[in-house]
Amino acid sequence: MKVLVTGGAGYIGSHTVRELINSGHRVTVIDDLSKGHALAVDPRATLFRGSTGDSALLRRCLDAEQIEAVLHFAANIEVSESVLDPVRYYRNNFANTLSLLGAMVSAGVKRFVFSSTAAVYGNPVETPIDELHPSQPISPYGRSKMMAELAIKDVCHAHGLSATILRYFNVAGAGPDGSIGEDHHPESHLIPRILRAARDVTDIQIFGTDYDTPDGTCIRDYVHVVDLAHAHVLALEKLKEGSCQVLNIGSETGFSVREVITACEQVVGTKLGVIEGHRRDGDPAILVASSRRIREDLGWRARYPEIRTIVQHAWHWHSTHPLGFRGKINPSVEAHSSTLEI
Ligand code: UDP
Repeated sequence: MKVLVTGGAGYIGSHTVRELINSGHRVTVIDDLSKGHALAVDPRATLFRGSTGDSALLRRCLDAEQIEAVLHFAANIEVSESVLDPVRYYRNNFANTLSLLGAMVSAGVKRFVFSSTAAVYGNPVETPIDELHPSQPISPYGRSKMMAELAIKDVCHAHGLSATILRYFNVAGAGPDGSIGEDHHPESHLIPRILRAARDVTDIQIFGTDYDTPDGTCIRDYVHVVDLAHAHVLALEKLKEGSCQVLNIGSETGFSVREVITACEQVVGTKLGVIEGHRRDGDPAILVASSRRIREDLGWRARYPEIRTIVQHAWHWHSTHPLGFRGKINPSVEAHSSTLEI
């Protein structure tokens, strides 16, 4: 299939681009490169630099590349930033999704996979969280994604779009060959922050040790980024005509912050300095997914379910790329820049 991937230069998008191409699809990427990295994009894809809010670019791309399906990752993802700058989040995550949906309707593109988040659920009222759990997001980030989901459902109804909305829990790891991985600025996620602390011999701070959990620290459900990417390929290939379905993607297993630190220490082979800090605003104590539906509907199974493997792959990336993509010497750079259409 000819597939457009928005945000394909980002962490999850770039792993999905690679999975799509390895599965035989032809991929075009739109990314404004504000957070993503051109070097993260598989050189077999065509990269257009620009925003999903740019209707002319979208039209050109959908028509010229004869796009048959869109996977939409481009978004802002920081909860705390969304509280400080909600307009940016509603614009990029909601309004730009509308602009993309409008362009798809005009171009007659009927297949859509959307990158959503457990943040649409808000504070869990029960755990594990299944797709019928109430959606009461507690941040502009979660609300901007929920609004996008509502718009997608309406477009499915009105225009016969077929869509799968994937709600991610926690994502970590890197390409097992160590060539692509997580490179956020600033980095807020636990596993890369622990691994950077290990690499740079600094301390890691735990945000809250007084939660109602067995060891007092928050519990999260981690999925390997390659397994998440694979879920997108399955979602695309198994889209049911005229349907709009929501699927959680998680491992159904929770690890506390302290357990993740221990797993990282075992992989890295050193003991880390730990600072027990205050809670971070907006962190629920436990977020664990029920992913029964995605296993039944898509036949999805994690290839890398072990937290140790997730951390090993992440460590391979971080330890060999201390500057992330900025320090990456890649023989494909020249071939790659020739596909950068601006
Ligand atoms: N966390 C932490 N120290 C850090 C980064 C994160 O204790 O330096 C905690 C955070 O409070 C949360 C968990 O680790 O309980 C996972 O956070 P992350 O930002 O990775 O993902 P989130 O669950 O917020 O999407």
